[in-house]
Amino acid sequence: MLKAITGGSIINGKGAAPIPDGLILVDGNRIQAVGSRDSLSIPRDAEVVDLGTATLLPGLIDTHVHLVMNAREDCVASLAHKSAVESVVEAAGNARRALRGGVTTVRDCADVFGVTLTLKRAIDGGHLDGPRILACGLPITTTAGHLNYMGISADSTEEVLKAVRTVVSMGVDWVKVCATGGGLTSDSNVRRAQYSAETLTALVQDAHRLGRKVAAHAHGTEGIRNCAIAGTDSIEHCSWMGEEEGHRYDEAAVDLMLKKGLYVSHTITGPRTGSSEEVDDLMNSEYGERYALLRRTLEEGVRMVISSDAGVPDTRFEDFGGSLVIAVKCCGFSPMGAIIASTSRAAEMLGMDDRVGTLEPGRFADILAVDGDPLQDISAIRRIVGVFKDGRRFV
Ligand SMILES: [Zn+2]
Repeated sequence: MLKAITGGSIINGKGAAPIPDGLILVDGNRIQAVGSRDSLSIPRDAEVVDLGTATLLPGLIDTHVHLVMNAREDCVASLAHKSAVESVVEAAGNARRALRGGVTTVRDCADVFGVTLTLKRAIDGGHLDGPRILACGLPITTTAGHLNYMGISADSTEEVLKAVRTVVSMGVDWVKVCATGGGLTSDSNVRRAQYSAETLTALVQDAHRLGRKVAAHAHGTEGIRNCAIAGTDSIEHCSWMGEEEGHRYDEAAVDLMLKKGLYVSHTITGPRTGSSEEVDDLMNSEYGERYALLRRTLEEGVRMVISSDAGVPDTRFEDFGGSLVIAVKCCGFSPMGAIIASTSRAAEMLGMDDRVGTLEPGRFADILAVDGDPLQDISAIRRIVGVFKDGRRFV
């Protein structure tokens, strides 16, 4: 079945100049051709989907979400009261919300009971609507460490290797390790490292041996540095928090990230409306300093992707576009840079750039249509008028 999707300009996700009067031909679940209406003709048997002047871009990729969490204050406490079945139901609802918010691929960065693996199979099998899922499953952490109530507690190198093999045997796509404490785990000390560089190195080597990449949660600079030494494929958050207080940038760690081609998946949480009041409040809070250091990290040339941490308090799954808005208004991304960071670069980080993240022939037909031009005003990314995944329209 051929579809001809017409709109305003096309942003391909790789930074090319936008194509005016865009037309995307979709054959089944794949993109067949992308161009302007002048350059391509619409086959007679194609179903035409006219999106007016809407801007067409690749479906967004959110590289850090928690589908089992409810985005409310009690997102952690409520987990303890839920069975695996209830958590699958929660995750299924959140997956649908993310898709309606223009997110066609997610990496889930920690669940309970491995339920996102079940959900992934249900979505891939066509039983439920949701984005493509790459699942980390159970997070690996220390006793009393960040997310210990969700994942596997492993302290010694030997225990950590056992934990890697356990999650791989469950079928995870990525291995998630908590390299520092975290804000959602009050006793875990968000500023300090949970593992030595040696233990993290052993974890990365074993995960790679088993064909899995590693996502490492790290807020504190001490842990960020350990991740850079160990070569965790993605460093989540990267908040540059000092050991005792404030923030501390580490140039040596950044040099290692550059040398090893590591990715930083910077999570932008909260209501994310992008209003001038909200931006002022953020820049005058402790986030102001953090965002200045992230801007510096970006300017150094580190491969940064934008993510949401959706599921944590006030961070709804349907609002990922808001993370791009804040990235532009607070963190030094250009509008095109923010789009690249949440499409083609995210796909590259996930090892899926041959399938998703760009509007090119042969890629899956994952397409977002928004009202207005996000290159002129990034807020347009939140005005969603169409979402397609595998060529099928969901919004
Ligand atoms: Zn997270």
